[in-house]
Amino acid sequence: MFENDLGIVEIVILGNRNFRKVQSEKMELKEWRRLAVQSVSLLLAVFVCCVCFGEQIQESTEHVVHAEAAPQVGTDIGGADKNQEVLPEIDINEAGQDAAEEKIVVIDAGHGGMDEGTSSRNQKHYEKEYTLLIAKRLQKLMGERGIRAYYTRMDDSLVTKKERVKQAKKLEADLLISIHCNASSIGDTTANGMETLYSARKTDNASMTNKKLAQIMLDEMVKETGLRKRGVIKRDGLYVLNHADMPAVILEVGYMSNNKDLNYLRKAGGQQKIAQGICNGIVKALEEL
Ligand SMILES: [Zn+2]
Repeated sequence: MFENDLGIVEIVILGNRNFRKVQSEKMELKEWRRLAVQSVSLLLAVFVCCVCFGEQIQESTEHVVHAEAAPQVGTDIGGADKNQEVLPEIDINEAGQDAAEEKIVVIDAGHGGMDEGTSSRNQKHYEKEYTLLIAKRLQKLMGERGIRAYYTRMDDSLVTKKERVKQAKKLEADLLISIHCNASSIGDTTANGMETLYSARKTDNASMTNKKLAQIMLDEMVKETGLRKRGVIKRDGLYVLNHADMPAVILEVGYMSNNKDLNYLRKAGGQQKIAQGICNGIVKALEEL
């Protein structure tokens, strides 16, 4: 207690100070609460962001896997480059990719122009049409795999056998894959299935004989399509096989004289599976070169 006025004033001042102190403590408490609420909110926001981001990554991964597992069947096949942009991530092992990138493959769609090849029994469908359709689908698949491939024709033009081999030699191709369709020469409509033709000549690659290539290609095509496996056949009288110096093979992908095979060849899904089988065979052969 102070007896004078000044003392009383002092008490008031002290009272005010105590009041301010309490007020200040209240303010500090409020500030801490505010900071605590902000911190919790921030943590919650970070947690929600992480969960959302994680889900997005999972979705994009699933999309890539799905795209790899199911190449589109029966859709437009014209835009090979466009498709490569859509599916930049291709799941093949690095060794396979390196091997594929270094090598060159020549894809030869058999016949063309006035050389129509064989035909269906009613002569409405010609071999040259289906070899080209399969080659175009194969072009898309090869693009997705990042394999360097060249095509002896991409339209209905006449290319001589000599020119086809010359192109492959000029490119110093590592493989020459010639696509054809079969037909029974004796009017047998029951003959069906796939076969591959090879020459006994030596190739410029010691680790890959023509016969080995023919076997790989047949196995992979049959595995993909489920068509009948007829076998690998040695044929020495065929120009393309005789004059190529790299491993070369003729693929007979089905019989146009057989209704079941013809229906398979005519369907987009059938053409796609044949192309996929050829692509798988090429990838396997390149890994073994
Ligand atoms: Zn042919």
